[in-house]
Amino acid sequence: MREIESSEKRKMADAPPRWPRESDLWSRIGASGRSVLMLDYDGTLAPFRKERLEAYPYPGVPERLARLAALESVRLVLVSGRPARELLGLLTCVPGIGQRAEIWGDHGQERLRSDDSYSLRPVGEEERRLMDAVKEEVARLGLSGTVEAKPASLAIHWRGLDPQERDRINSAVRTLYRQQGERSDLRLLEFDGGIELRSKHAGKDVAVEQILAEEEPGIIAAYLGDDLTDEDAFAAAGDRALSILVRTEPRESSARFWLKPPEELLEFLDSWVQAAGARSRRKDS
Ligand SMILES: [Mg+2]
Repeated sequence: MREIESSEKRKMADAPPRWPRESDLWSRIGASGRSVLMLDYDGTLAPFRKERLEAYPYPGVPERLARLAALESVRLVLVSGRPARELLGLLTCVPGIGQRAEIWGDHGQERLRSDDSYSLRPVGEEERRLMDAVKEEVARLGLSGTVEAKPASLAIHWRGLDPQERDRINSAVRTLYRQQGERSDLRLLEFDGGIELRSKHAGKDVAVEQILAEEEPGIIAAYLGDDLTDEDAFAAAGDRALSILVRTEPRESSARFWLKPPEELLEFLDSWVQAAGARSRRKDS
C-alpha cells in the first residue's frame, strides 16, 4: 500500500513472474483437508467501472465462487476496500456466498461472518472529525459525488474525472491532512482510482494476519489482489500464503506471482475447485 506521506518507505521487488499453472499447490490442496483462499474483489474478481455499484464480477467468476463456497474443505474469504454488505450485494448472483464465505470489508475494518455476525473497528472522535472536514472540503469544491463515507474510513474516487478536477481534490485533501491529520491516527493512502483516509491500525495486512492466525501453522493459503492496497496483504502473506497479483499488465509488487484476468484467473479458480473437490470426493467414496 502506498502511503502518500512516505511513499519511499518500502521498496517493492520487481514485477513478479507469471503464475506457472503447473504447480505442486494443486496436489498439496488435494492431499490436505483444508485450504484458505483470500480474494480481493475490485480489479481482481470484477473489472473496474466508473459506476461503482455496477461493478459485477467477470463472466464465469460467479459460477467458480459458488463451487468454492460449496466445498467444506475451503475457507473462502473476500477482503475488500468496499463496505462488506455492499460487496455482498454485488454477489447476489453467487448462490450460497453469504452463507459460506466471510467478508472483510473496509480494508479489514469490518468482518461479516458466514453466520451473519458482524464486527466493526471502533472509530475515534478525532478520526471522525477529520473525515467530516475532508468531506466538507470536497463538497465545497462541488465534487461531493466523489466521496464515499465507509463505516470506518473515507474514500474519494476520481476515476472518470478530468485531470484538473482530480488535481483540485488531491491538493485540497493533502493540504487539509497536513494541517489537521498528520498527527492523528489516520493515514492518507492512494489506491487505484482515488485517495483514502484510513486508520493506521487498519489494512488488508491486518485482515490477512488475523485470518492466518486462526488457522493451523502450515495451512495452504493464497491471497489474490490487484491494487496498491493489496501490497500490504502480499507482504503479510510472506511465506505463509501464496500471493498473486491479478492484473492485465504486471507491475512492481511484493506478490510472488502474477496472472492475467479473466482467463488465467478462471483457470486458477477452476484448479482450486478441482484440487479441493477431489479431496471431498475421495472422502465421500
Ligand atoms: Mg482491488
